[in-house]
Amino acid sequence: MNERDSEAVTGILFDKGYQAAASTEEADLILYNTCSIRDHAEQKVFGRMGAFRKLKEKKPELVIGIMGCMAQEHGENFFKMNPEIDLVCGTGNLSQIGDLVEEIQRGRAGARHAVPIQKLAIDRIDDDYGLDGIQYRADKLKALVTIMKGCDHRCTYCIVPYTRGVEISRSSESILREMKDLASRGFQDVMLLGQNVNSYGKGLDENMDFAGLLEKIQAVAPQIPRIRFITSHPKDAHTRLFAVMRDLPSVCEHLHLPVQSGSNAVLRRMKREHTREWYLEQIEEYKRFLPQGSLSTDFIVGFPGETEKDFADTLDLMEKVEFDSAYIFTYSERPGTPATKLKDDVTEQEKSRRLQEAMKLQRAISLRKNQALIGTSQEVLFESKTRRDENRYGGRTRTYKRVVVSSAQDLVGQMRQVKIVAAADETLLGELTS
Ligand code: SF4
Repeated sequence: MNERDSEAVTGILFDKGYQAAASTEEADLILYNTCSIRDHAEQKVFGRMGAFRKLKEKKPELVIGIMGCMAQEHGENFFKMNPEIDLVCGTGNLSQIGDLVEEIQRGRAGARHAVPIQKLAIDRIDDDYGLDGIQYRADKLKALVTIMKGCDHRCTYCIVPYTRGVEISRSSESILREMKDLASRGFQDVMLLGQNVNSYGKGLDENMDFAGLLEKIQAVAPQIPRIRFITSHPKDAHTRLFAVMRDLPSVCEHLHLPVQSGSNAVLRRMKREHTREWYLEQIEEYKRFLPQGSLSTDFIVGFPGETEKDFADTLDLMEKVEFDSAYIFTYSERPGTPATKLKDDVTEQEKSRRLQEAMKLQRAISLRKNQALIGTSQEVLFESKTRRDENRYGGRTRTYKRVVVSSAQDLVGQMRQVKIVAAADETLLGELTS
């Protein structure tokens, strides 16, 4: 979602006549989009501030702005922590950012600082994300489309509900208009975005759910061959969604369904609102509808109170589900979240050991699953040349597996059939067959 937000803000600035600078040294304006999800991400932002300060010392007219979740979280405190900053713009005020930058550059902001942090229940989502607002796209092949934002769940470790607010869906009319536009411009792969896409439609005047939205998208933009979505909450993923994934030709057979832990005791403390058994039932159902479909997930290891037995339950769940891939992180405390009241009693050393063990297991499972594809034929949409070799091209299958092939001919933007000839845990090697 941050990627789409950055793209949208870039579009706003281009519309106002700004141009991309070749480097931060040459820039007159630096907008830094930030993420609060993990402590590590925040520390990186604070780390970069020193470099920005030096740039500003050399070039006092340089305008530096912070946007995104850290802006929403820390608000005006940013000015005290980092006096070199001129602008702090929260997640609900993106559409104003161009005007605010202009005001600061023209010296009309009164004080040099501007800080629009709005209440989080944003009622202007269509202005911020709709086609009418921002048409700029950084890519010609793949597009990101925000369909809802915010989250009504309250997982105890998560800062997102406090930085992105409650769930708000865009009207289907606005989304469908955007999808038609993307279809007419030749986009091949569209990712629908939301913190919890499965609860799309909640609070809208129209009678529409996420599965219904996918059906409408298929009907109005059938030229787009690949539609993906992220992220789903296990509690809101259901049979109707799996049936639609199976039946609609453009919806890709890949589900990212974060589980976070395989232990019911940990899931309870995380307030995940699902149990291990419920999750496994959903996965079984998904596999029944889409036997060739792929699965990915997120895990947090070392959550407060996680015992060796809890961790073993996580490893066991990984084995049972056989995820194609998993994003695995150690727990880090986020100030202001309910989990800070729990004792962070797993040592950093132990968290790191569990992380390594879980990653090792996942690599073995990913390799096993990828090796099973050797000899099969896959439809691959080629996205780019590989960095290392001029004549090698990288693309994705419908199931989001990365495939690399050698070709003397430029493949970027092409959809081709590929025979898989070798496999590693993250990449498949193939040969063109069409
Ligand atoms: S479902 Fe939980 S983890 Fe996901 S955004 Fe909402 S609160 Fe955060």
